[in-house]
Amino acid sequence: MSASGQPILEELRGTGRLPSPGGVALKLMELTRREDVSAGELSRTLQMDPALAGRVLRAANSAALGGRAAVSIADAVVRVGFEGVRRLAMSFSLLERNGAGACREFDYRGFWSRSLAAAVAAERLARETQAAAADEAFTLGLLHDVGALALATVHPKEYGYVLGATGQSDWQLREREREVFRVCHRELTGMMLADWQIPRPLVEAVVGRGLVEAGAPPRAQRLADLVELAVTTGRLVAAEKPLAREVFDSLGPLLQRLGLARPLFELLLEDVITAWREWGVELDVETRDTSTVELLALYDGDSPSTRAAADAAIAASREPRLRVVLAEDTESQRIGMTRLLEAQGFEVRAVVDGHAALEALREQPVDLLVTDLVMPRLDGIALCRAVRQSPANDGCYVIVFTGHGDEDKLVQAFEAGADDYLTKPVVRRELEARLRAARRVTALQRALAREADSLRELNARLEVANRQLAAAALTDSLTGLPNRRHVLERLRQEWSAAARHQRPFGVVFVDLDHFKAVNDVRGHHAGDIVLERVARVLRRVIRTEDTAGRFGGEEFVVLCPGSNLPQVARAAERIRVELEAEEFTIGGESWRVTASLGVAAVGAVRGESSWDEALRRADAALYRAKRLGRNRVVSAAAVE
Ligand code: GH3
Ligand code: MG
Ligand code: MG
Ligand code: MG
Repeated sequence: MSASGQPILEELRGTGRLPSPGGVALKLMELTRREDVSAGELSRTLQMDPALAGRVLRAANSAALGGRAAVSIADAVVRVGFEGVRRLAMSFSLLERNGAGACREFDYRGFWSRSLAAAVAAERLARETQAAAADEAFTLGLLHDVGALALATVHPKEYGYVLGATGQSDWQLREREREVFRVCHRELTGMMLADWQIPRPLVEAVVGRGLVEAGAPPRAQRLADLVELAVTTGRLVAAEKPLAREVFDSLGPLLQRLGLARPLFELLLEDVITAWREWGVELDVETRDTSTVELLALYDGDSPSTRAAADAAIAASREPRLRVVLAEDTESQRIGMTRLLEAQGFEVRAVVDGHAALEALREQPVDLLVTDLVMPRLDGIALCRAVRQSPANDGCYVIVFTGHGDEDKLVQAFEAGADDYLTKPVVRRELEARLRAARRVTALQRALAREADSLRELNARLEVANRQLAAAALTDSLTGLPNRRHVLERLRQEWSAAARHQRPFGVVFVDLDHFKAVNDVRGHHAGDIVLERVARVLRRVIRTEDTAGRFGGEEFVVLCPGSNLPQVARAAERIRVELEAEEFTIGGESWRVTASLGVAAVGAVRGESSWDEALRRADAALYRAKRLGRNRVVSAAAVE
């Protein structure tokens, strides 16, 4: 802390409003200052505040470099050390005590949202670059701007006034803060961090971030770059509206100096967003649903068209300027109305009759049409009707003017689709009231359209998910073969096709011999591997028109449409031989398995039996193969 900073900090502290950690966190800070404190004592104190303890544990785990997770506070203390526990506890305590405040111009929730994003960004970046310890970085990110919070909390009114002066850059803001408070929020942050015993090099990185100092030691510069990158990343992630392009562009040199490849940074960004949202839930800090793709789309690419798209996105995210077409044949009224509408913030296109209005609407659909009723060529009523018939102008709000004695026309205008009316001469206050209604309706319509869009998107996603679910419901997860349900379904289909075309149909039942022994001797995992390999053999051996499926346990079925009994028996024998030849090696030990097979075929030609009859007979044949000594094929004909 600089010597000149001390009195300012003391003065602020004197107000009793300076943000500071409380309760257990404060106690921890005192404890860690003592030389003789033990890990047990620290753990016990921390555990007096279970919510705080949980958060510290979580942070200790996410900041840890892989490995076993800390499961107790004592573990966490070992993990991140006394200092780490103290820093984390202090940060969370500050956040909890300062989620809201008296300065109306200061966005407390936005402040913590950004700070939290900076914290998780700092943590991830620290792990990647090794420029700082991860938990240290987390704290720095979270508290990087705590001086601003302090100014808002200690001097809510005055700081509100300073913030209220619009269009300030960070630099201008700090100048103004110095004038009013003799200290800027950045310097104050430094003083507070130092006061909380954050090590000096870390404090300097926070205060001096964003500057490249010629003679600075590389380590210090790296740390400052890390903090700056984390803060910028945090702003990028948490900003509700896209930031100025310059902010985004400033990432490039930082990444380069820190030796982070751009694609790696993009991956990290996704991580940061996920962690930010998780922490947000935990700490009741506002976050936003966004993604790397969404974020980068706003800034990426140097081609004019992508730039333009980014600019358009930026413009769209601001309060939209409503567009209006004004149709009025009397020049003086046209000019007067144009002025009134422009004064209301509308973008006005003024035309002289209904035809010209339609023309303008065709060129570019608008939010609002204000039209006179009596006009040459195409009057207001016909214009209303035409607008309502064009889908492009679906959301267009229509206000008609009526002169003295136009009451009948007014009824017609409403029938033709007008939303509201104004009587001439137009009184400004009345116009404003009508326009407010128009704005509300337009905003509602836009929101509805957005909702419809997201519903459509949701639907598309659901459809994909449904398809995946349907596929999963039909597939055996171990072997990837069709499962029992799928096989039966397939059998029914194939069977009716065979019957229609009067073709024979063969079924093979395969049951592994003494498979229980494989599990018993070599373990269930080995059994699973065998099942998986058997499935591969089946897939390899059968014809493309055949279907192999897992019927259950160690039983498989092969459906052979078009095969008669001798043909299906030959197919089964091929399977038997291939299975017998397959050598399984796990853990240096090799062994083989055999299978018993039962086959049946039904001649749909003779209109004989049904598909379940085929199954029953194949099963009976299999049973016989087992009794005859296994590792063989038995045909159903031989059974009957
Ligand atoms: P048999 O020659 O009479 O068919 O003897 P077997 O041991 O093969 O027949 P049994 O029906 O008595 O036992 C089948 C065994 O298959 C029992 C079960 O542990 C095992 N099994 C079934 N499904 C799975 C599986 O998904 N994975 C593993 N590893 N084993 C399975
Ligand atoms: Mg069996
Ligand atoms: Mg078996
Ligand atoms: Mg079996």
